[in-house]
This record gives sequence, C-alpha cells and structure tokens, in this order.
Amino acid sequence: MTTPPRLVMKFGGTSVADMERIRNAAARVKREVEAGYHVAVIVSAMAGETNRLVGYVREAAATPGANSPGFYDAREYDSVVASGEQVTSGLMAIVLQEMGVPARSWAGWQAPVMTTAAHGSARITGIDTTKIVERFGQGMHAVIAGFQGVSPEGRITTLGRGGSDTSAVAFAAALGAERCDIYTDVDGVYTTDPRIERKARKLSRISFEEMLELASLGAKVLQTRSVELAMNHNVKLMVRSSFSDDPGTLVCPEEEIVEKNVVSGIAAERGQAKVTLLKVADRPGVAASIFGPLAEGGVNVDMIVQNISEDGFTDMTFSCAEDDVARAKHLLENAEPKIGYREIVVDDDVAKVSVVGVGMRSHSGVAQTMFSALAVDGVNIKVITTSEIKVSVLISRKYLELAVQSLHAAFGLDKV
Ligand code: ASP
Ligand code: MG
Repeated sequence: MTTPPRLVMKFGGTSVADMERIRNAAARVKREVEAGYHVAVIVSAMAGETNRLVGYVREAAATPGANSPGFYDAREYDSVVASGEQVTSGLMAIVLQEMGVPARSWAGWQAPVMTTAAHGSARITGIDTTKIVERFGQGMHAVIAGFQGVSPEGRITTLGRGGSDTSAVAFAAALGAERCDIYTDVDGVYTTDPRIERKARKLSRISFEEMLELASLGAKVLQTRSVELAMNHNVKLMVRSSFSDDPGTLVCPEEEIVEKNVVSGIAAERGQAKVTLLKVADRPGVAASIFGPLAEGGVNVDMIVQNISEDGFTDMTFSCAEDDVARAKHLLENAEPKIGYREIVVDDDVAKVSVVGVGMRSHSGVAQTMFSALAVDGVNIKVITTSEIKVSVLISRKYLELAVQSLHAAFGLDKV
C-alpha cells in the first residue's frame, strides 16, 4: 500500500476568528481529507488575540515599584502569548471530530518543534514528526498550534509575530508535503496594494525570490522568514482565501513560471524617514563610526548614500523606519565626538516605492522606465537603491499613490 500524499493547511487569525469561521475552515480540511490527503492543519490564534495577550504581559510588567518598569521575563512572555494558538488548535480538533474527521491537537512542545532559546523570536532548529506520522498511519489528522516551539531548556518559545506561517512551512518541509496552503483574508498576492491601485491584478504565480522582496518590503501576506524557508526547502506555497473558492497565488521556483513579466509587483511603504549628516569628514572609518552605533542601538538602516566630497567633507544620508528616528538621532548625538559632523537633518515625510521582478536580471532599462514614469508625473526622487531584482526610491509621502499608479501602468501591470 502506498502512503497517501500529505498536505499542510494553515489558517490565519481571521480564518479562525470565531466558531463559525473555525467550522468553515474545518469544512475545507474535511474536503482535502476526503480527497485522500493526510492533513496537518496549522492554526494561528483568533484575530486580535495575540495583541490582547501581549497587552496583558505589558500590564503585568508595569507593576509600580518594580526595579525596572516595562521589563519582563521573555520566557513568561512566550508562555502567555503562545496560549492563543493552543486554544484554536483544540477547538479545531473538536470541530473536526464533530464532522467525523479523526483529529487531535499538538502543541509545539508535543510534536516537538525544537527551537533556539531566543524567546519572542526563536528560530526552528528541527521538527520531529515521528509521532504525528505514526498517527497519520492510524488515520488521525493533526492540528498543530502555530507560532510556538520548545527551547533546548524545555521552555515554550514563540517565533516572532506572524510566525505561524513559518510553522506551516517548516512542517510542510519536515513532512514532505505536496503543498502548503496558506488560508488568509486576501485571495492571493497582487501586483500592488489594491487599495492604492484599483487596477491591481492577482498573480496566479510568483517566484520565491520576488515574494521574499515583496514580503520584506511590507506586503504583509506572509512572514518573511516563512518565504525564506520555503525557498530553501522548495516548499510550494499557495496563498488563498478562506472565504472563497477562487484559486490563489502559487509561490514557486522561477522555472515554473511560464508567463514572465519583467516587473511582477510594486510595493509601497509609508512610514519611512531620511536622515542626513551634514559635513562629515571624508576619511576611512567614518561610515563605520556612524553605522556601528546605529546597528548596536538596534536601528535598522535601509538605504545609504554618500555624496561626493568637497574640501575633504561629505554628506551622509540613510533611511530607516520613521519610528526609529528619535533613537537614531539620540545615538548619533552621543557618537558625535567620534564621528564629527555639523548637523543632523531629518526628513520624515518620505515613502519608499519599489518595483520588483526577476525579469530585471535579463532586461535592461527597468530603472530608466521607472525614473521616466516618475518624472512625467513630477515626482522628485530623493534616494535610489537597487538590487538584482529590485529598484527602490524614496519620494515625498504625498506622491505615494500617484507613484504607485503610474509605475503600475508603466510596467504594463494594469488590469485590462
Ligand atoms: N498569532 C501570532 C501573531 O499574531 C502568530 C500568527 O498569527 O502568525 O503574531
Ligand atoms: Mg499572518
């Protein structure tokens, strides 16, 4: 007898937000079971639940009189916030049983899902699927609490916000699943945010690399780490809606995409800021003296440009999240004696717009098309960076919508 193919089905928070939705999700699981799959269901906590739990932790830690208010034990944070997934996994198992589908729940530590001890953002180091596979053999399907695992010390860990995507991909890889279906509240990956451009199209396929860029650029469909993992283990991901039967978007190797666009998607991020240090000495080590303290202070620097030097001085500009500006300024002021500069100038009215596509590797002129389209609309470019499959620009925030729309048209992405 051959063993049945395996399928991983992941349901996000909105797909398990209440009992009715859990039943709806379970009905989908039942269909796949009837189609002959051994199914591993990965669940998130109910929508909003993890935020609520994080809120409790903050409240508990703010006890008046505590030595350092706001400090909390990250191991206990994990113990609290991991509980949301424990609830939905149990409920899903009950509902499946009610529907006649044999199923049981598995907490991260029960599988087990082994992780590092980096509480709050642990990495999966391995998954032992022996017990789950044994149960498959007895006709028992698995409902697994996403987002959680167990540290080498035996403590409960969590994988960082959005981490149940990563749980799902890791299980798909470990189980050799045929596919990993990510059920969410959007019906796929779009050429750009449909709220910004009505003519945005759903992509039937997108490559791992493009998805990775889009995910890290803030298209919040999948946790970035899950895409990385899927790419490394060649796990086919299908992003689809729990609320419709439309085919979703398949995230797959580039070779499996027939209809290739030079540019596949346009991403936009609003909350950016541009910071310039005026008149720093143009000498070896100056960049290190600026970006060293920023890195140590946890400021995530994105783009960097250095002007040509004049009389031995130059201007150094970088971008980061708007929320990090105050910290960045503080760190740079402390480091002023070592760096030496005249002034810090902050422009926090900027947005980042990026065009992404693997076709850029073999087509020249993408940057030129982008700059021309923006020029026609009178959008001034403040900073530019490029990678092999991406061109990003910083522009004034008020032009974000206009820029996305004109680039969407310029690269032939508009829905016809
Ligand atoms: N519930 C967790 C969160 O909101 C994990 C997830 O849903 O992916 O971050
Ligand atoms: Mg998510």
